[in-house]
Amino acid sequence: MGRAFVYAIVGGGVAAGYAAHEFVKRGVSHGELCIVSEEPVAPYERPALSKGYLLPEAAARLPSFHCCVGANEEKLSPKWYKEHGIELILGTRVKSADVKRKTLLTVTGETISYKFLIVATGARALKLEEFGVNGLDADNLCYLRDLADADRLVDVMKSCTGGNAIVIGGGYIGMECAASLVINKLNVAMVFPEAHCMARLFTPKISSYYEDFYKAKGVKFIKGTMLSSFDFNSDGKVTAVNLRDGNKLPADMVVVGIGIRPNTSLFEGQLTMDKGGIKVNGKMQSSNSSVYAVGDVAAFPVKIFGETRRLEHVDSARKSARHAVAAIMESDKTGEFNYLPFFYSRVFTLSWQFYGENVGDVVHFGDFSGNSFGAYWINKGHLVGSFLEGGTKEQYEAIAQATRLKPAIEESAELERQGLGFALTLSQKFPASQPLDSGGSGLLIEKPVYALHATAGVIMAASIAVFAYWYGRKRRRW
Ligand code: FAD
Ligand code: NAD
Repeated sequence: MGRAFVYAIVGGGVAAGYAAHEFVKRGVSHGELCIVSEEPVAPYERPALSKGYLLPEAAARLPSFHCCVGANEEKLSPKWYKEHGIELILGTRVKSADVKRKTLLTVTGETISYKFLIVATGARALKLEEFGVNGLDADNLCYLRDLADADRLVDVMKSCTGGNAIVIGGGYIGMECAASLVINKLNVAMVFPEAHCMARLFTPKISSYYEDFYKAKGVKFIKGTMLSSFDFNSDGKVTAVNLRDGNKLPADMVVVGIGIRPNTSLFEGQLTMDKGGIKVNGKMQSSNSSVYAVGDVAAFPVKIFGETRRLEHVDSARKSARHAVAAIMESDKTGEFNYLPFFYSRVFTLSWQFYGENVGDVVHFGDFSGNSFGAYWINKGHLVGSFLEGGTKEQYEAIAQATRLKPAIEESAELERQGLGFALTLSQKFPASQPLDSGGSGLLIEKPVYALHATAGVIMAASIAVFAYWYGRKRRRW
């Protein structure tokens, strides 16, 4: 049993949905593209699962959040795929791949052959068993990666109203689920090993703002320790969480968010790996020229950092997928992926965005006792990362553009004084619509491809240098 396609996508999550949309925009013909997905539903916006999906009232449900509504584009319902002649092979895991023969083998025994393959298998949630905690098939222990997990979490949450929920992990899943559990009227305690929440991204000062906000909503923080074991009742349900520090926390339910592993196993030994994912070039092409990788599973060159990175966020899944399709369908016209990393979250009434990378010295700004504040990261004398809570659209665009420009920063005290004003002024002088061929390298233009861009780049570099000089002078005058 077998079918042949020109293009095949393995995995049916965010990246697959955006790739399908791009294929259609670029004129894919009926019958040329298939998507094979283990999940039983058409690609959807995964971020909804820890936010709208968990609301006690008017909760988001499919089909409302199929891709690409998250990017304010059309919603790709199952009917859309049919109308465009895209074969959606759902509820079907690919169990092996042979990149030399250009075939996939599904659990149903079907062989799918392709000319071009896009790997969009995402990642799986790490399980506590992998850290030596056993006996974890309890009904009231939840993870959150896919729709089935989310349905289970909703059921357990509804059965525990007024009870105690323990959240294991202080990262994205932990923070977003803790907020949802509070909104669903559970008593929530978060347990994580670090000294503060969201340690991968937040500074202690930023964390402390969110922790105080959560505490005011009733969330308890138990930091610097990990769970060692669970207590179970005769039904096999978790009744308490035992911590390494000797404390016992009574529990009606447990939510675990302790990180992910990219789903690379189909391609181990066949494709070059890096940073835990499939290594690709600036066209999202792997070590096998017919195979592309996108989203959480792809380790790609992030030009602005001059390094290969694997990102675990929805914006990079969407954009890397679109770029891979462009590279496949219009290889000659498609350059290197030039991506500014962007992460965000929304919990309670809070909302933040982050651009770039959080390395180097930090300059905080704004009102940490109010609703809007932020931080810049300065590395090797340049602004490389920006965070803003409670911003407007214009302000978020400003910090994004300031980060993209990577301006030289001479004096962090003055940057702190100017705060958000620095990004706003810089982005007004150099709006995002101007071509930035340098990949955001600011004062250094790297081998521009087109003469026009080269000229624009040089003008831009010179202007930023003037701005940096003006900025330095301003500092000295004040
Ligand atoms: P996924 O969306 O995970 O899709 C992978 C797909 O591949 C799945 O459907 C899976 O079943 C399928 N698959 C895997 N292996 C196989 C196989 N062998 N055969 C067939 N199918 C297979 N990011 C943000 O920036 N902001 C947010 O607010 C945010 N919220 C999130 C909330 C939750 C609950 C989660 C889990 C993630 C969130 N993220 C967020 C991260 C974001 O959703 C991911 O970065 C994004 O989904 C990655 O897209 P992907 O297509 O690479 O992988
Ligand atoms: P994470 O890496 O953000 O956080 C993991 C947390 O678990 C950390 O606090 C870590 O110290 C803790 N931890 C790790 N091992 C542990 C152990 N053995 N015992 C106890 N604690 C342990 O991962 P996550 O929160 O699980 O998120 C999963 C994925 O989903 C990530 O890729 C994330 O980017 C993505 N996600 C993103 C968003 C967003 O961007 N807004 C929202 C939800 C999920």
